[in-house]
Amino acid sequence: MGGTFDPIHLGHLVAAEQIRADLALDEVVFIPAGAPWQKAREVTPAEHRYLMTVLATAANPAFSVSRVEVDAPGPTYTVDTLRALRERLPDEDLFFITGADAILSILTWRDATECLELAEFVAATRPGHDLSDLEETGVREKVMAVDVPALAISSTDVRERIAAGRPVTYLIPREVEQYARKHGLYGTERQRLGIDQPR
Ligand code: ATP
Ligand code: MG
Repeated sequence: MGGTFDPIHLGHLVAAEQIRADLALDEVVFIPAGAPWQKAREVTPAEHRYLMTVLATAANPAFSVSRVEVDAPGPTYTVDTLRALRERLPDEDLFFITGADAILSILTWRDATECLELAEFVAATRPGHDLSDLEETGVREKVMAVDVPALAISSTDVRERIAAGRPVTYLIPREVEQYARKHGLYGTERQRLGIDQPR
């Protein structure tokens, strides 16, 4: 499961666990993106996002976190990650888990056709997004859709809540919230500069 995970939230974890159970997967590997080339905004340093993902997944024996994209110099592409995984695991079934919104940008990815050959693509339902836009692209039948309990949580909303001093309890794991606050992630500019105390 690839993502920016800035920060990881319960929507990611519920989707991953649901798909793991439905498809009887041995393992779900979370792959935080290094320098996400499609994200316009400034992204939190990869090491923070990696560590928060580790904190959030540590208790689940079927979850692990990969550094492959975090350690890669420069922008990372899903196709490179899938090629590397395939090389390391030549005989395993590989699935690439995304949310319904992320799959919609699949055709803008580098080497989209090769991506679809390297792994089976699984799209988790996500509130506010469906797969109908994929129908015209000819890709729809190559993507497996899995219904997950709807959680209208996004990292964007979590960041905005923390910056505004609103609660994120039960939206992200407690350890992730503690880590983010300890390192002053997502605070306002004034909080980062030490003018205001984070709430
Ligand atoms: P941002 O708001 O910064 O874009 P995000 O919440 O969309 O963050 P990402 O790191 O962009 O999180 O998402 C990683 C993957 O998880 C994507 O494939 C995305 O579609 C999926 N995803 C994120 N949130 C949910 C959710 N609530 N339910 C299902 N899938 C989700
Ligand atoms: Mg997103």
